[in-house]
Amino acid sequence: MSKFNRFYGMMVIIYDLWSEKMVKKILAGFLILFIVFSCSNNENDFSLVIHGGAGSIYEGRYSAEEEQAFREKLTEALAAGHNILLSGGTSNDCVEAVVRIMEDSPLFNAGKGAVLNAKGNCELDASFMDGSTGKAGAVGAVSIVKNPISLSRKVMEKSKHVFLVGKGAEEFARENKLAIVDNSYFITEENRIELQKMQSEKSSVLNPSGKHEKLFSTVGCVARDKFGNITAGTSTGGMMNKKFGRLGDVPVIGAGTYADNNSCGISATGHGEFFIRNVVAYDISALMRYKGLSLDEAAEFVVNKKLVSQKGAGGIIGIDKDGEIVMKFNTSGMFRGYITQDGLPKVYLYNEK
Ligand code: ASP
Repeated sequence: MSKFNRFYGMMVIIYDLWSEKMVKKILAGFLILFIVFSCSNNENDFSLVIHGGAGSIYEGRYSAEEEQAFREKLTEALAAGHNILLSGGTSNDCVEAVVRIMEDSPLFNAGKGAVLNAKGNCELDASFMDGSTGKAGAVGAVSIVKNPISLSRKVMEKSKHVFLVGKGAEEFARENKLAIVDNSYFITEENRIELQKMQSEKSSVLNPSGKHEKLFSTVGCVARDKFGNITAGTSTGGMMNKKFGRLGDVPVIGAGTYADNNSCGISATGHGEFFIRNVVAYDISALMRYKGLSLDEAAEFVVNKKLVSQKGAGGIIGIDKDGEIVMKFNTSGMFRGYITQDGLPKVYLYNEK
């Protein structure tokens, strides 16, 4: 066939296709595929996951009103974080705002509502890590700073250190104009009674499976913003009846909090001594980076194998570099929830899926 004939033949085919509207259909098909691909490509997706502690949280433990109060507060925190991420806010701003909401609520063991140490005072710990820079800030045993999460972020952003404790941390809070309150602000009547019970050795709750379990109701948040940056933050009053001066896992970077844009962000809750010894948050990230495990596999191994084998109670929340969310615990329940771009908050208390 001559060149002219081939060219002529092709023109006839194209004309036929066009006249049958085939070309238009093909183009429309490509357009639809492009739109579907753009929507399913999670490059710009953002997500947010929170916890309000793990432990003896099982159906029947709380009244309908109490249950409702937990659900509402978790939903409020998720909605506030979602608004920030939706309007292009950073994961750092989102995590700080979300944790502050939970710190300001007496329902959780952080900020107002923090548990008491053996002397009947509140000593608060918090930490914050930015997975895009690898920078972190932590504060321990502060007793007059209203929102320890904000102080830990300030340590990260405004000091050349990572970890400040006690009076030095409080002085730094004053220098940075953070809200200061009396220690009595944090103390609730329920926690006073609980401490008395614990000191008279009637504390741990027998859960339905007959296990003695504690309640750890530390709060935490992990967010991944539109730019793919991951931040993790955690805040706590520690453990009820703890020794004066005791620090738990929450302010220890790598134990209770860790974030790395290349793997994941993690915030933990549980029996802090086990979380410190097992460097839980970093261990999950390291299993992902060095062994190629998914976030789910890494968290399952650390929370449900390693910790369980040592009787280390607790749980974690996390988001990986692709926005996958994980919420794992080895206790009866964990106050938890997440929200993604669709804006529909999902909140859970017990071991419901
Ligand atoms: N992990 C915290 C601590 O040991 C307690 C908690 O999660 O509620 O201080």
